[in-house]
Amino acid sequence: MAFSPFDWLLGRFSLDIGIDLGTANTLINVRGKGIVINEPSWVAVNKRTNEPIAIGAAAKEMVGRTPTNVVTLRPLRDGVISEFEITEAMLEYYIAKAHQQSIVPVPRPRVVIGIPAGVTAVEKRAVFDASMAAGARQTFLIEEPVAAALGAGLPIDEVRGSMVVDIGGGTSEVAIMSMGGVVNSRSLRVAGDELDEDIIQYIRNKYNILIGQGMAEEAKIAVGSAYPLKEERTTSVRGRNLITGLPDSVEISSIELREGIADSVQTIIDVIKDSLDETPPEIMADLMDTGICLAGGGSQLLGLDQRLTDELSFRAWLAEDPISCVARGAGIALEDFAKWSGLFVGLERQPGQ
Ligand code: ADP
Ligand code: MG
Repeated sequence: MAFSPFDWLLGRFSLDIGIDLGTANTLINVRGKGIVINEPSWVAVNKRTNEPIAIGAAAKEMVGRTPTNVVTLRPLRDGVISEFEITEAMLEYYIAKAHQQSIVPVPRPRVVIGIPAGVTAVEKRAVFDASMAAGARQTFLIEEPVAAALGAGLPIDEVRGSMVVDIGGGTSEVAIMSMGGVVNSRSLRVAGDELDEDIIQYIRNKYNILIGQGMAEEAKIAVGSAYPLKEERTTSVRGRNLITGLPDSVEISSIELREGIADSVQTIIDVIKDSLDETPPEIMADLMDTGICLAGGGSQLLGLDQRLTDELSFRAWLAEDPISCVARGAGIALEDFAKWSGLFVGLERQPGQ
């Protein structure tokens, strides 16, 4: 990619930001400063005016507690934008917040933003448009697992295979990379959110108690697991008893939760196996050395690394701070723009443009 001297000059002084626009969490990484925003991807909207009244943690707090004129929502579903205007408002708010932190007036930012692997041209375009509408001067798209691999410090530019599995809220993504490019990648719409749903179903079926999504997520984080624990644990969940209609609580164990989420965990593992099936033998040999890097919030499920190591006979290891890998990777791409520009994904032109 060639840059004019003007671009270079602008690049020196402008604010460059990497964005992980996740289904569950949005992170903003400002070049030279690091991650300045890490908030849940929730927005509370006034139904009458359609104006956002809270964004991020403040909006997540309101979930399940709103009066009739307010609705809380996550503008992304399964990793892609489902509510365009709300996504744009959310990005605009975060970009402005990152922008304001600069002491001197600077031009509008250049943005590197993640998209799930294998999304459609329309879905890609929506992320690009939302970023531009939210105030970016230029926007570059990068596949999330690629950014995650970069952020986790994998040697993706070497002539050597590396593999990353990024498990988020809406999607689990697998990518095998070599020589700075993707050898093969896959995305599956089963991830952390699905595990929460499984837990809700399980408790409903077994105890006739309906719990909220937030409670299910808390239980998952506290005692959810993919492999038997050295010491099994318990946690208590609260909800509404479906028979009496009254508040109720129950103590559940890590063994029960493991059973409850087993099918979805297996689905994720099967996709990883499928992508290994398509991997050339030389790269398989490389992976036996480097193992499989796990990134994304959902990869922190207790015992997942051990379960994968067992089932795949490759060492699976958790990246450092798995939740920020994509944002850190986007930041690395910005630091050395020329080196990594080959990783950016183009936009296919659509008819009429
Ligand atoms: P996204 O990229 O979709 O925004 P994240 O990478 O931020 O997603 O991960 C969010 C998901 O990770 C949520 O489903 C959340 O419940 C899950 N998660 C976070 N911490 C843990 C944990 N310790 N154990 C299991 N799941 C976790
Ligand atoms: Mg993610």
